[in-house]
Amino acid sequence: MKSGKVQGSQRLENKSREEFAEMVHAILSARFPERIPQAFVHTYGCQGNVADSERIKGLLVQMGYAFCDRPEDADLVLFNTCAVREHAEDRVFGNVGALKPIKAARPGMIIALCGCMMQQAHVEERISKSFPYVNLVFGTFAVQKLPELLFRVLSGGKRVFETGEGGGEITEGLPTVQDRPFKVWLPVMYGCDNFCSYCVVPYVRGRERSRMPEEILKEAEALIANGAKDITLLGQNVNSYGKNLPVDMNFAKLLRQINALPGDFLIRFMTSHPKDCSEELLDTMAGCEKVSKHLHLPFQAGSDRVLDEMNRGYTKEQYLRLLRYARKVMPDMSVTSDVIVGFPGESYEEFQETLALVREAQFTSLFTFIYSKRSGTVAADLPDPVPYSEKSSWFSELTALQEDIAGARTAKLLDSVHRVLVEERDESKGLLMGRTSGNISILFDGSDSLIGGFVFVRVTEPKTWVLYGELCEAE
Ligand code: SAH
Ligand code: SF4
Repeated sequence: MKSGKVQGSQRLENKSREEFAEMVHAILSARFPERIPQAFVHTYGCQGNVADSERIKGLLVQMGYAFCDRPEDADLVLFNTCAVREHAEDRVFGNVGALKPIKAARPGMIIALCGCMMQQAHVEERISKSFPYVNLVFGTFAVQKLPELLFRVLSGGKRVFETGEGGGEITEGLPTVQDRPFKVWLPVMYGCDNFCSYCVVPYVRGRERSRMPEEILKEAEALIANGAKDITLLGQNVNSYGKNLPVDMNFAKLLRQINALPGDFLIRFMTSHPKDCSEELLDTMAGCEKVSKHLHLPFQAGSDRVLDEMNRGYTKEQYLRLLRYARKVMPDMSVTSDVIVGFPGESYEEFQETLALVREAQFTSLFTFIYSKRSGTVAADLPDPVPYSEKSSWFSELTALQEDIAGARTAKLLDSVHRVLVEERDESKGLLMGRTSGNISILFDGSDSLIGGFVFVRVTEPKTWVLYGELCEAE
C-alpha cells in the first residue's frame, strides 16, 4: 500500500505545470458542466504583488477560470497578501474572516491565500488553526506551482500548505493576464539582500535574483506588441540589477536596451535604493527619451544615526548630493520618496532632521509610514519608548509640511503642457485620468475612446495632489 502511494505521488511529481493545468481544467469541466468557473482575485500591497497576480491570473485562465468582481459570485477566492506593515496584515485577516459566511452560502468555494504574509511561520500557524475554511496557502516561491496545488486541493479534498523557500530559481514563461494591456508591470528582479533593519521583505521574498536581460527584453517586446504604452520595471532595489548574473549587466545598461526597442512607449521603474543609485543611472535616465523623468528614491529618515540603525548604507548628505546631481542632469525631474516616522529610538530632534531633509529635497510627493514592528527583523528587538500617539503627531507635522511643498510645486505647473497616456475614467469625477512624466495625476474631459492612447493636456487648475487640465495640441 505504502509503496503504491509513493509511486502515485512520483507520477504526479513528474507532471508538468501544463499537465496539471489540464487536469484541473478537466475536474472543473466535470464540476461545472453548464458554466465557466469564476475566480475572484484580490491583491494587497506593492506592484511586485500586482505582477505576481498577473501571473496567477494567467495560470487560472489556463485552468479554465474566468474572473468575477465579488467573492459572493466566486468558485475560487484568492487573496495575494502583503506583510510589510501590521495594518496590511490586519486587513487581510479581517477580509478572510468576512469570507466565512460567504463560503457557508457557497459550500464548494475554494479559498486560497498567497503572497508575503504566508511566508511567515506565525501567519501560517494562525491560518491553520483559526481559519479552517481556507483550503490553500502558498508562499511567494510557489506561484508557478499553482496548477499542481489546485489539483491537490480539488482532487484530494484536503487543505494544502506550500510555503517552502525553494531553490530561488526564476520560472520564466508563465502566462499573464493584465487588467490594462497598455499599462503594465515588468519584474526585472526578485527578492532583496539589503536587510534594512525594520523590513520584512528579505525574509518573505528571499535573496536577490535578477532575470536574464534577454528574458526581460523578450517580455518587453511581447508587451509592446500587445499594446503596452507605459512599462514599469520592478524590483525592490532595481539599482542592484545584474549583480549576480553570469553576464556583464547593470540597470543602466538594461534601461538603454529597453529604450532602444522600437515603439512609442514610456519606461518607468521602481524602486531605487540610494546606496546603489549611480550617476551612470541618472545620466542614462537623462539620455533615454522613453524613460520618464521621475525618480522614486526612498530616504526613510533624515538623521544619520537613524539611517545607520536602519542599515540603509548612506548618509543624509550622500542622499542630497544624489538629488542635486539628478536635478543638474534633469532640471524638471520629479522626485518622490518613502519615509518612516518613529523608528525605534528616534527622538523628536532626529525627526526634525527628517523635516529638514524634506524641506531641502522638495519632493513631488511622499509616501509616509509610521514605523510598524515586524517580527523577526533586527529593529523588532530595539527599545521603542515613544508612544504611538506622539509618533502620530510627528506624522501630522510631516504630512502638513509635504502638503505645502507639493502645493507650491504643482502651482508652478499652471499652463504647462504634458503628453500623457490616458489610463482610465475617474468615475467619481467623471473625467479621464492620466499621469505626467513626473507621475502626477492629471484629470481632463474627453471621450472614452482616448483611453489607452497618448494625448496632450494643458494644466488649467493645479491642486496639491492632482492637476486639472484640458486636451490641447502638441506644443
Ligand atoms: N524596496 C523598497 C521598499 C519596499 S517597502 C525600498 O527599499 O525603498 C515600501 C516602503 O514601506 C519602504 O520604503 C518603507 O518606507 C516602508 N516600510 C517598510 N517596512 C516598514 C515598517 N516595518 N514600518 C513602516 N514602514 C515600513
Ligand atoms: Fe526592505 Fe530595504 Fe529591501 Fe527595500 S531595500 S525591500 S526597505 S530591506
